[in-house]
Amino acid sequence: MRKPLIVANWKMNKNVDEALAFLNDVLSELPADDKEEVAIAPQAFAIYPMMKVVRQTPLQIIGQNAASKCNGAYTGEISVRDLAALGVNYVMLGHAERREIFKESNQTINQKILTALREGVKPIVCTNGKRKLIGRHNHCYSIFSQLDNVLTGVPVEQVANIVFSFEPTEAIGAGKHADLDTAKHGCRLLRREISQRYGRQIAENVRILYGGSVNPDNIRLLMAAPDIDGVLIGRASLDADNFIRMMNYQRTVLARVM
Ligand code: PEP
Repeated sequence: MRKPLIVANWKMNKNVDEALAFLNDVLSELPADDKEEVAIAPQAFAIYPMMKVVRQTPLQIIGQNAASKCNGAYTGEISVRDLAALGVNYVMLGHAERREIFKESNQTINQKILTALREGVKPIVCTNGKRKLIGRHNHCYSIFSQLDNVLTGVPVEQVANIVFSFEPTEAIGAGKHADLDTAKHGCRLLRREISQRYGRQIAENVRILYGGSVNPDNIRLLMAAPDIDGVLIGRASLDADNFIRMMNYQRTVLARVM
C-alpha cells in the first residue's frame, strides 16, 4: 500500500516570519488520520525554526536541495548530513529549476542522490521530461535518459527509499496543468520503467508524484489516478487556505476539472 505524499515546494519564497505564520494557520487543519504524509520544503534557513514548531505533529519539513558533499569548503551549499541531524526525512533532488537554471547535470544529481541515501535522507528524485512528438500524433516524455544517469550506482535495496516525481516541463510554474491523461500516462511510464530496471515488486512499492500546476481544483482527480501517489505543488502551496484544501483533498468533491 503506497501512502500518498503531498509536498509543498516553496522555492525561494517566504521568510521565517511568513513561514511560521503559515504553520500557525495550517497546523490545526492537518488531515486527521495517518493515511497520507504532508511535507513542506521551505528555504533552507527556515527549516530549523519550522522543525521546532512541527516536532509534535505529523507535518514534515524537508529540503529543496542538498549537496553531494557533507561538509567542507563548499560555500553556499547545504549539507544533507546536517539536514538529517535536524530530523529531515526527505530532500528534493534534480528539480527542473536546478537543472535548467543552475545547470545541474545528471551526474551531479546522481552524486547527491547517493549521498542522501547514505545519510539516511530519502531523495525525491524529480524527472521533468520535455514533450516530444513521436510519429504524427503521439507524444512521449524524454524522462528516461534522466533516470539512466541519475540512478547509477544506487543499490537495488535502496530504490524503495526513493520517491520519484514526474513533472512535464511545460506545466511547471505555468499555472496551466498538464491534462489528466498526460499526468497519468507519464507516471505510468515512469513506474513501468522502474519495473523494467528493478523488477515489478519494487516498482509497485515505489511512490510516484505528479508535479505541474497542481491546485485545489485538480488535486483530487490527479490523486485518484492509479499510478499517482502524491503531488509536488509549487505556486498553489504558498497560500495557506489553498494548502489546507489540498492536504485535505480527500474531503473535496471529485469533479471533472481537467
Ligand atoms: C514545482 O515547482 O515542482 C511545481 C510543480 O511548481 P508549480 O506547482 O508552480 O507548477
